[in-house]
Amino acid sequence: MNDLNDKLKDILFGSDNIVFFGGAGVSTESGIPDFRSADGLYNEEYKYPPETILSRSFFEDNTEEFYRFYKNKMLYPDAEPNNAHTALAELEKRGKVKAVITQNVDGLHTRAGSVNVLELHGSALRNLCMICNECYPLEKIIRSDGIPYCSCGGVIKPDVVLYEEGLDPSILMKATVAISEADVLIVGGTSLNVYPAAGLITHYNGDKLVLINKSETSYDRYADLIIRESIGCTLYNCI
Ligand code: ZN
Repeated sequence: MNDLNDKLKDILFGSDNIVFFGGAGVSTESGIPDFRSADGLYNEEYKYPPETILSRSFFEDNTEEFYRFYKNKMLYPDAEPNNAHTALAELEKRGKVKAVITQNVDGLHTRAGSVNVLELHGSALRNLCMICNECYPLEKIIRSDGIPYCSCGGVIKPDVVLYEEGLDPSILMKATVAISEADVLIVGGTSLNVYPAAGLITHYNGDKLVLINKSETSYDRYADLIIRESIGCTLYNCI
C-alpha cells in the first residue's frame, strides 16, 4: 500500500493538470450511502426499486411517493465534507487540480472549497418550481409536508438528473473537455457502471489514469495505478 501511495504522490507532485472524476463512494465516507448498492434495504419499506422511484415518469405520476423516498433516503443535510473533498479543494488551491467532476448531488465538493465543480447529476441544494422556475434551497424540501409547492402553486422539483432524463449538455461538454485535456485523471469511488457519465473517461488521452476504489471497476485493465483503499485517506495522504 505504501508503495502505491508513494507512486500516487509522485504522479500528483509532477502535474498541474489533474482532473478528478468521482462517484457515490466519495460521499459514503461522509455517511451518505450509495442507494444503488442497497436495493435490498428498501424492499420492505418501498414497493418499487430506487431506480424506478428516481425516474422522471415516476416523479410525474407518483410525486408524493417520490418525495417520501427522496426525503428519507437521498437527503443527508447534516453530512460534512470528508478528507477526499478537503484534499481535492486543497489541490485545486495549489493549482494542481483543474476540475472536479462528480456524480453526487450533495454539494460537498463546493462546501469543502472546490471551485471548478462539474455536477453531472445536478444538485439537491437547488430546487426549481416546474412552472415559474423559482429556485428554492434544500430546507424548503425538508420542511415541506409531502410534496413541496412554490408560492405560485407549482410543484417544486429537485435540480437533480432523474433516470430517463438527459445530462445537462453544457456540463457534459465541460467535463469532456477537462478530461480530454487532463494530464492526470483520478477516478474515485465509482465502479464506472453508470452511463453515460462513466463513458466520459474514455475521452482521457493521457497515461496516468489512477483508479481509487475499494472494489474492481470495469476500467481496471486500462489503469496505470489502482488503489483499493479509502479514497479520503488516500487523497489526504497526498497533501
Ligand atoms: Zn413557481
